[in-house]
Amino acid sequence: MSNIVSLKCSCGAVKGTLEVVPKSFFHVHCLCRDCQRFAKHLSNSNNILDEHGGTELLQTYPKFMKITEGKENIGGIQLNKNGLYRWHTTCCNMPMANTMNSSKIPFVGIPVTFMEFTSEKDKQDILGPVIMKAFGKYAMGKMPKDAHERFPLSFMPKILGFMIKGLVKKNYVPSPFFNGKNPIIPVTNKIQEC
Ligand SMILES: [Zn+2]
Ligand SMILES: [Zn+2]
Repeated sequence: MSNIVSLKCSCGAVKGTLEVVPKSFFHVHCLCRDCQRFAKHLSNSNNILDEHGGTELLQTYPKFMKITEGKENIGGIQLNKNGLYRWHTTCCNMPMANTMNSSKIPFVGIPVTFMEFTSEKDKQDILGPVIMKAFGKYAMGKMPKDAHERFPLSFMPKILGFMIKGLVKKNYVPSPFFNGKNPIIPVTNKIQEC
């Protein structure tokens, strides 16, 4: 059974929904440099990163995510050449999602800070436990004991299976961030700045 989670930025201008479909998501932490840079770029690190500099994410298919209000407050940046598109709100500088820089890749990573839960238990019941912490080598301070230094190879078959299923089922459309081939707004390039 799928669960519908409400999405809401901290000021409430941007709202949406996320369908959490069993076997179609990964609940992870990413401690990579880019996720930290993104939080810093938004000048909102305190509200985005945990004490290790990690970002808690749900990785799933774009078609399960819908933005229903405040679409005019969406901004997009790219921190690396050919890197991810990182989507955020311009009203309150909250991260909304990471996607690939192509509309045809069935992947979106949505920060849990953009989701609304009634309680910690509610969150646990819907998202389940965190199954993987990646890029621990970039942790602020000590690396969490349960983190991997980089992206664990043991996780690759799962990601591959996820991608193949998503491609076959065309789970990359509709996406809240692409109109056909093109991003819904011009994505700003911030490669020089970092
Ligand atoms: Zn906002
Ligand atoms: Zn990351």
